[in-house]
Amino acid sequence: MPTVDLDFGSVGKIPEGWFRLVCDKALYKPNKSKDGFIANLQMRLIDMPEEFEEFENLSIYDWPSFKLSARWKLQEVLGAFTGENWEEDGMQLEVECEEDCGEDSCPHQMVIPILKDATAVGLIYGKEFDGKVRANVKNYLPDDGTVEFGADMTE
Ligand SMILES: [Zn+2]
Repeated sequence: MPTVDLDFGSVGKIPEGWFRLVCDKALYKPNKSKDGFIANLQMRLIDMPEEFEEFENLSIYDWPSFKLSARWKLQEVLGAFTGENWEEDGMQLEVECEEDCGEDSCPHQMVIPILKDATAVGLIYGKEFDGKVRANVKNYLPDDGTVEFGADMTE
């Protein structure tokens, strides 16, 4: 009889709700189709409530685009992690060489310093990607103490 391979290990293994995120690294890099740039965010969950403590340090990734059509998402991310409003025209986001080499146009990875080690609050949910359920962020809010952490999916 034919069989179907099924993994159940990750079912229910994503904590869903509002939790604190720290951004360990934010790369500024070209998107896959090379027609724009993305912020490659390498984040993890911290300060998890006791009932979710097994998910402390769970890695979460996001790739908000700098394209105008998707800039609302970048605006939400920057606003949440910096606590500032990113609403005006002509605003400038600092990017720098990861190696701090001092060359003008260098071959190194570019990073977004303002996001490094910054925290925000994220609405976490599980989404299937390449056959695995991974943690994603539906919404970002500033980490200003106004959001109650836990399994509440209210937006
Ligand atoms: Zn460099």
